[in-house]
Amino acid sequence: MTNPAAKSALPARPHKPENSPPEAIAGELLQFTYFRGRVALAAILRALGVQIGDEVLIQAFTCIAVPEAILSVGAKPVYVDVEAGGINMDPADLDKKISPNTRAVVAQHSFGLPANISRITEIAEAKGIPVVEDCAHTIMSRVNGKRVGSFGHASFYSYEAAKPVFVGIGGSAVCNDDALERAVRAGYTKYAEPPVSSQLETAAMFHAHGIAYQPSTYWTVRSMFRTLSAAGLIRGNYNKIADQRGPASDFTRRMGRIQKHRLRQELRGLTAQSDHRREVSTAYRTRIRSSAVHHIDFDSGVDPVYGRYPLLTEQRASLVREAQKARVEVAVFYDSAVQPLYGEALRSAGYEPGSCPNAEWASERIISLPTGRQVGRREIDRSVDFLNAFGEVQG
Ligand SMILES: *Cc1c(COP(=O)(O)O)cnc(C)c1O
Repeated sequence: MTNPAAKSALPARPHKPENSPPEAIAGELLQFTYFRGRVALAAILRALGVQIGDEVLIQAFTCIAVPEAILSVGAKPVYVDVEAGGINMDPADLDKKISPNTRAVVAQHSFGLPANISRITEIAEAKGIPVVEDCAHTIMSRVNGKRVGSFGHASFYSYEAAKPVFVGIGGSAVCNDDALERAVRAGYTKYAEPPVSSQLETAAMFHAHGIAYQPSTYWTVRSMFRTLSAAGLIRGNYNKIADQRGPASDFTRRMGRIQKHRLRQELRGLTAQSDHRREVSTAYRTRIRSSAVHHIDFDSGVDPVYGRYPLLTEQRASLVREAQKARVEVAVFYDSAVQPLYGEALRSAGYEPGSCPNAEWASERIISLPTGRQVGRREIDRSVDFLNAFGEVQG
């Protein structure tokens, strides 16, 4: 099927070397910075000309940030299922979901495990549809030596807690196509700095988190942040879609200069951080042999840098309960097709409950372990020992 309404096919024309040095990567990420990752995605969609009535394909097993960005430009999120037993978009289902109204595909590299990006771009571009890569969970994963984020027409990043680089709150857009980059640059002038009070509040949250968080304090810090967020004292991850009247003010803002300064500093450590995450994940992969959990397979040529290390388990409720008692960090997201929406509320993000069974299957079984700088030898041992003791050790 061709897409008769599509504008002329937009071949991807990366205008940068495939293996950029760290300074070049930092330079790209600092060019177009926004209030949040979802705001960066919305800016890309606008620059692509996505508008009211258009459809944007995204995977189920995602977070509210993604459909929220699509809804903010007046378009409709359409959900593609993930691969059976996996956590990333199923190219075969993508092919089926493309319609004459499809204007963009968002390919998410869940937890840092690269999606089948060559198949996805092949299918989409054959029909004249641009691909935007969701790199919220990874900056440095590679496929056949090429970094994620450089396959599609554009990519976007997020700097919240639990993302590969944390600055409090924020996001970046990166374009691989010159015409698209010009459009993003033209739109960028309209984004205003957040008030200094909001920047300072974010900086305070960043420092509080940095001081309080360790894998062993995960459960305490999590409940503390939830309480503060419920009390309206800090900003949660989720603005209720139903409460929004037109684009929320978040979608008109760029990243504050305080956060941008922090981002510039954090990016200096990007290579070391990524090497660390790789080492931690390799330890998890080789040492966790519990019958209670399953590792997720990937093809040779795929070099994942996990933002969090994903595992699947049939015994999630009891495993998480025990982990909390043992003060071991085992996170549960995404525990629905569009976290944090459940049941009928999923419809507010355009998701029809039951429509993506593989995604729902994964959302009932996923857990993840931290890979960041706070994870040292001791934390790795504690997680490995806990999981191996929970099930029976195999192999
Ligand atoms: C965190 C995240 C985003 C962006 O989140 P923001 O809160 O807008 O920065 C986008 N996609 C995925 C998959 C995410 O996990």
